[in-house]
Amino acid sequence: MQTDCVIAGGGPAGMMLGLLLARAGVDVVVLEKHADFLRDFRGDTIHPSTLDVMHELGLLDEFLRRPHDELRDVAVRVGPDQAKVADFRHVPTRCKFLVMMPQWDFLDFLADHARRLPSFRLVMKAEATTLIQEGGRVAGLRARTPEGELELRAALVVGADGRHSTVRAQAGLETLDFGAPMDVLWMRVSRRPTDPPDLFGQVDAGRMLVMIARNDYWQCALLIPKGSDAAVRARGIGALHDSILGLSPWLGERVRELAGWDQVKLLAVTVDRLREWAKPGVLCIGDAAHAMSPIGGVGINLAVQDAVAAARLLARPLRERRLALADLQRVQQRREWPMKVVQGMQLAMQDRLIRPILATNGPVRMPWFLRLLGRFALLRRVPAWFIGVGVRPEHVG
Ligand SMILES: Cc1cc2nc3c(=O)[nH]c(=O)nc-3n(C[C@H](O)[C@H](O)[C@H](O)COP(=O)(O)OP(=O)(O)OC[C@H]3O[C@@H](n4cnc5c(N)ncnc54)[C@H](O)[C@@H]3O)c2cc1C
Repeated sequence: MQTDCVIAGGGPAGMMLGLLLARAGVDVVVLEKHADFLRDFRGDTIHPSTLDVMHELGLLDEFLRRPHDELRDVAVRVGPDQAKVADFRHVPTRCKFLVMMPQWDFLDFLADHARRLPSFRLVMKAEATTLIQEGGRVAGLRARTPEGELELRAALVVGADGRHSTVRAQAGLETLDFGAPMDVLWMRVSRRPTDPPDLFGQVDAGRMLVMIARNDYWQCALLIPKGSDAAVRARGIGALHDSILGLSPWLGERVRELAGWDQVKLLAVTVDRLREWAKPGVLCIGDAAHAMSPIGGVGINLAVQDAVAAARLLARPLRERRLALADLQRVQQRREWPMKVVQGMQLAMQDRLIRPILATNGPVRMPWFLRLLGRFALLRRVPAWFIGVGVRPEHVG
């Protein structure tokens, strides 16, 4: 198959880039290794700056008609103290809230719209396996499909295949790994109308639990020290129930819905980035270029912003068949700084907040900066802006 651009990975970065390039008249093929977007361990937050992108595409009203929750405040509880720490009502964007929507609904929505464009093609159950390298540049890729091997030749291969990117490994792009002190146990418990409000971060000695409200259930993320999954499981499911109840006693008997470890998934947290995002004929974006920690829930937004910038910078050279390495490097130049700012914040939070909390057995108290946020409503606009908009928001060209 011959195309202008082949994208490995149908996550937020790959689907948004595919949609935007096809909209700009570029022939594009997106390969997604799974049969559908129905995987559970993905973030669920669609940020105000991504909603601005949807508005610029003329899709916002239709998007907001899909079932979702709107989050205007974020609250945390640390030990005995509780505080609101972010208020989205004043972010300088069209929507002054964060949308909570399962990521598969978001991806389905993008796929539905992209499929209406004549130059877009999405191939599910197609796993990129090998880059085709010719004359010192990447000239396409091979993918495994149920029907056999697929060979795609293209002016550009984009690695949007996430944290364990095959494209970046095959391209030999150097990775800088920053490590993380935690992994995440991911599970769900049913939700009742009388439960406390949305997105509740709860912290106590040695434990952190984030609860994300979805229609009739809570998506729960329990942070555990890195590499301790086997030890946690060895203590038995009863110990997990106790751990959760210690943080959210109001769940009561509902923790027993977690009857076995097959209902609890381990998500290994990684924070890394590429030194160079591109080589001739190949570019990485999203988590493939910079794996994000779940802290702040900003990875999807960054992946989308990368895609918006890449489409704006690359559509014309692709259409005019004059794509050069310098064009690809411009994407990195544009997106690297915002990504470094966010990763810097995540690494600081990991070291100053999460590592000590997971290591302690004693009582924990609300850190001073969260107390300040709790006390002064004006200050709560700052984290809301940082999470919801971020530095250098991108706009569709
Ligand atoms: C526990 C946890 C919770 C998180 N929560 C949030 C949150 O609430 N909000 C938030 O914004 N971010 C969150 N993040 C981060 C967020 O998930 C990522 O930053 C974001 O999904 C990156 O998008 P992406 O498109 O670059 O990659 P991904 O979302 O990883 O998508 C990559 C896609 O490529 C496909 N793929 C992989 N390999 C191949 C291949 N060889 N061939 C073809 N297809 C392939 C995958 O199936 C996948 O569909 C969380 C991360 C973790 C670990």
